[in-house]
Amino acid sequence: MPTALITGITGQDGLYLAELLLAKGYDVHGVIRGQNNPKRELVESLLPDVRLHHGDLTDTSSLLRALRDSAPDEVYNLGAVSFVAYSWENAQLTTDVTAKGVLNMLEAVRLHTGDDPTHIRFYQASSSEMFGKVQETPQHERTLLWPRSPYGVSKVFGHYMTINYRESYGMHASSGILFNHESPRRGPEFVTRKISRAVARIKLGMQDELVMGNLDAERDWGYAGDYVEAMWLMLQQEVADDYVIATGETHSIRDFLDLAFAHVGIADWTPYVRQDPRFMRPAEVDTLVGDASKAREVLGWKPSVTFPELVALMVEADLAAAREGWK
Ligand code: GDP
Repeated sequence: MPTALITGITGQDGLYLAELLLAKGYDVHGVIRGQNNPKRELVESLLPDVRLHHGDLTDTSSLLRALRDSAPDEVYNLGAVSFVAYSWENAQLTTDVTAKGVLNMLEAVRLHTGDDPTHIRFYQASSSEMFGKVQETPQHERTLLWPRSPYGVSKVFGHYMTINYRESYGMHASSGILFNHESPRRGPEFVTRKISRAVARIKLGMQDELVMGNLDAERDWGYAGDYVEAMWLMLQQEVADDYVIATGETHSIRDFLDLAFAHVGIADWTPYVRQDPRFMRPAEVDTLVGDASKAREVLGWKPSVTFPELVALMVEADLAAAREGWK
């Protein structure tokens, strides 16, 4: 039975990945940060078979301990300060965790494995935010990176450090350049979940307004459950490499609003939505759309959930959660 260690196990992707690996018969371990982390309960109730280890990406010795105690075959580095808007307010913290944390984890794996760092297969969660001010469309693995936020810059550092450890030490280290991927488990600060939650609450009369930022930004949105499958596939390859994971379709925030409100029978959402500079960003990533043909050809990966299906499943989940809250 293979063993996996996941950082960021309390996040959307960590939970989906842990479920996937448990279903495949893995022994799954997670790194959990902080004293009395409120998300521990969530992981323990959803995934009682996962073993949790205290650790922090800014503390290499804690990572070494987690590696020693879990003895993994595969390490998935999903931990990060991941909200782009927040990264301007906390640029140094974002850099410590999202950038330097990758180096700390790579170093910990290298030291832990001693003479042969190929013993452990390593996955780095890179991001389409690295493309930022896009230099070509669609974006692929060789597109010039031009990040537009401290978060994006940090992800670029982690991406190149992963490649560097692969080239310097022969580590089986792969970087997945994942475009936005969403689900009912997405944090409510991200735009898709913010919309699905508000639409459900507006429909049920629990909220009357949705305050938004830039409605013209466009994203390539997929379903998180599909994307964790791609992470696993990358580590099953004989040779480590980098892959773009995306749907290849782009939609605006307005498109998301159209479908989400239409799903609850509201054709005109303009009376409910107000724009506020509070939610505008110092620099914006306008349009992202990925070319995942390499992943399709080499990994045999393709997304299974369409954009309208994704919007519908998120709104449905938030309707159910809001009704549950009434009980
Ligand atoms: P990101 O792609 O990782 O930054 O994911 P987000 O879901 O946070 O943002 C996606 C896009 O939605 C960005 O271009 C935001 O500027 C835009 N957006 C517009 N209004 C909002 C809002 O109220 N909240 C968030 N989070 N994003 C918004």
